[in-house]
Amino acid sequence: MRNLQVNGERLWASLMELARIGATPKGGVCRLAASDLDGEARRLFISWSEEAGCTVRIDKIGNIFARRPGRDPKLPPVMTGSHLDTQPTGGKFDGAYGVMAGLELMRTLNDLGYETEAPIEVVAWTNEEGSRFSPAMVGSGAFAGIFDLAEGLGRPDNVTGVTLGAELERIGFAGSEPVGGRPVAAYFEAHIEQGPILEAERKTVGVVTGAQGQRWYEITVTGQEAHAGPTPMTRRRDALVGAARMIDAVNRIGHDNAPYACATVGFAQVFPNSRNTIPGRVFFTVDFRHPEDAVLSAMDGELRQACKAAADAIGLEVEVKEFWYFPPTPFDPDLVAVVRNAAEAQGYLHQDIISGAGHDAVYLARVTPTAMIFVPCVGGISHNEIEDAKPEDLTAGCNVLLNAMVERASAA
Ligand SMILES: [Zn+2]
Repeated sequence: MRNLQVNGERLWASLMELARIGATPKGGVCRLAASDLDGEARRLFISWSEEAGCTVRIDKIGNIFARRPGRDPKLPPVMTGSHLDTQPTGGKFDGAYGVMAGLELMRTLNDLGYETEAPIEVVAWTNEEGSRFSPAMVGSGAFAGIFDLAEGLGRPDNVTGVTLGAELERIGFAGSEPVGGRPVAAYFEAHIEQGPILEAERKTVGVVTGAQGQRWYEITVTGQEAHAGPTPMTRRRDALVGAARMIDAVNRIGHDNAPYACATVGFAQVFPNSRNTIPGRVFFTVDFRHPEDAVLSAMDGELRQACKAAADAIGLEVEVKEFWYFPPTPFDPDLVAVVRNAAEAQGYLHQDIISGAGHDAVYLARVTPTAMIFVPCVGGISHNEIEDAKPEDLTAGCNVLLNAMVERASAA
C-alpha cells in the first residue's frame, strides 16, 4: 500500500463551492434531480473534470463518467462516485462528498504524475435520492440492469408529473452513451455515514462490509366493532388490543436480534377511530432490516407466529402481507479488505460497519466487485440542512479512497 495523500483543503474548497448551487438559508442544499440547479452542479463537475484532463461521457439516463486514462486503455475502469442531487432539505455532503472525493483523487494523481494501469472513472449517478422522481437510485439501477431505460426515463415528478427523461432533455443531460452493459473492474464509493456509530465509537473511517436487507409488511387485524359501554370485557374482539400486542412483538423481535436488526412500525390506522367504539380493524406497516438473509427470514417467522398468537388469543383475524423484499448486499470481501488495509496503512482508527441506507454502490454490487468507505457526520444527522462533517475526516476518507483505487487500478 503506497500511502499517497490528497489535498484536503482543495477537497473542502470544492465541496463548499459546489454547495453554493442550491444553497438554502439554513446552510443546507436543495438540488433536486434533473432540476436547473442539478444541471448547474453537473456542468461544474464536468468543467472541473475536463480541467483535470478527463474525457467526459454522458449516458442516456444522464449518468456522467469522467475518465482518467490508464496505461492500458483496453482494461475496464476502476470506478468511484456518488450523486449530485439532494433531498429538498438536504446537506452539503450526502452524495457530493463521493463525487468530489473522486475528483480530488484524480487531481492528486495528476499532481504526482502518477499513472495507473487501468483507467479510473469518476461517476455522478442520476437521481439517487428518489425525492423528486421515485424510486431512489434510478441512474445506478439502470446502469446495473435493475430498471430498463424506458422505465427509468418514464419516472414522473412527484408533483408535476413531468418525466425524468423530459427533464434530463431540458437541462441538456440526456446523453448518447448506452446505459451500462460494459465491464467495470471495481466500484468504490465514499460517503458520509448518515448515522451515529463512527462518531460514538470515535472512529475516522468505516469499512463498509455490506448493506442491510429489508422486508416490509402490511398487516391488517380484523375484530368486531361494538359499543364501548354495554359490551363486557369478555365479549370483546378488539382489533387495536391485538395490534398493540403485535407491535410490541415487532419491537421485541428487533431487540432479540441485536445489534444489527432494525424493526419499526411507522404507520398505523384504526377503524373507525372513534373514542366510544371498540376498534373493529387496524392496519399497520412493519419495516424489518438486517444484514443477514437467514436472520431476516427468522424474523419473518417470528413475526408471523407472534401475529397469529396475538390474534388467536382474542378471536381476531390477521393478514400479514409481505409488501417489499430487498435482499442483503454483502460487498466484495477482497475489495473490502483493500479498503481496510488502506485505512490501516494511513494509521486511521477504523471499524467494520454495515450500511443502514441504500446507496448507488448497492446496485453496482450486482455487476462488479464493490466496497464503500464511510466517514463520520456530526451527530449522525443527514437528510437535513444542518448535516455536517469535519474536514479532517473527509480528507481521511478521501486518502483511503485514493489508495484503495490506486491499489486496484495498478494491480489490474
Ligand atoms: Zn447519498
